[in-house]
Amino acid sequence: MLLNDKVAFVTGASRGIGKAIALEMARNGADVAVCYSSNEAAAEEVCQQIRALGRNAQSYRCDVSDMEQCSETVKAAIAHFGHLDILVNNAGITRDNLMLMMKEEDFDKVIATNLKGAFHMMKHAGAHFLKRKQGAIINISSVSGMMGNAGQVNYAAAKAGIIGMTKSAAKELAGRGITCNAIAPGFITTDMTDQLSDKQKEAVVSAIPLKRMGQPEDIAHLAVFLASPLASYITGEVIKVDGGIYI
Ligand code: NAP
Repeated sequence: MLLNDKVAFVTGASRGIGKAIALEMARNGADVAVCYSSNEAAAEEVCQQIRALGRNAQSYRCDVSDMEQCSETVKAAIAHFGHLDILVNNAGITRDNLMLMMKEEDFDKVIATNLKGAFHMMKHAGAHFLKRKQGAIINISSVSGMMGNAGQVNYAAAKAGIIGMTKSAAKELAGRGITCNAIAPGFITTDMTDQLSDKQKEAVVSAIPLKRMGQPEDIAHLAVFLASPLASYITGEVIKVDGGIYI
């Protein structure tokens, strides 16, 4: 199996893309630290599914926008699993609005969760990876951060920031054998995109060359590959999984 006996730490693993990544990593032989923000029952259900696959799982409540909570959670996961091999920064939120109507707090909240949250986790898990001279970091960006999207100046700024941060961290960590890559999903069917109206979804699908929204597993398959030895010579990359919406 591609991730035999690896330990993955996945943020936002209670639902959507993070859940699919956690389960696909477990199917490929990894134990998983399942991080969530408030939905404890959903996180526990993911842990049960992972244990049913014969792998170890533990859930952790952690607001990734809080530096101290991230530090404590990484420490707790290392204590429980013994070590970590893979970090997936997936936790994210939207607070969409047109720029002129966007509240400052909605801008700040999205940056704090989607961008700073990944920094917090990379800083703490990165220190552990440096000591072990190995590790794979996967940051979930978005095509919004590459092509822009009306109504998402906050979200697109955070997701573009993830790309710059991924490339910088890749350069800092490569000397110790640690890879750092980003995945930029297009429109994926999750609670996040369920907020779109049917009319908005129709418009989105008509703009996608493959003529469908993606599934969380489309992202999870790439995450498993990037975390595996098959991708050990790939770092600082941003890979779109978007049905061709941003060709
Ligand atoms: P989702 O279904 O809304 O799930 C969001 C996850 O993030 C949940 O597990 C949630 O935990 C967690 N979370 C939210 N705020 C958090 C915080 N402050 N601290 C820790 N965890 C937090 O989202 P999704 O669609 O799967 O998206 C996952 C990632 O992919 C996000 O970074 C998103 O920006 C990115 N993405 C999604 C799409 C898409 O089309 N869906 C496209 C491009 C990029 P709780 O369950 O506890 O609330």
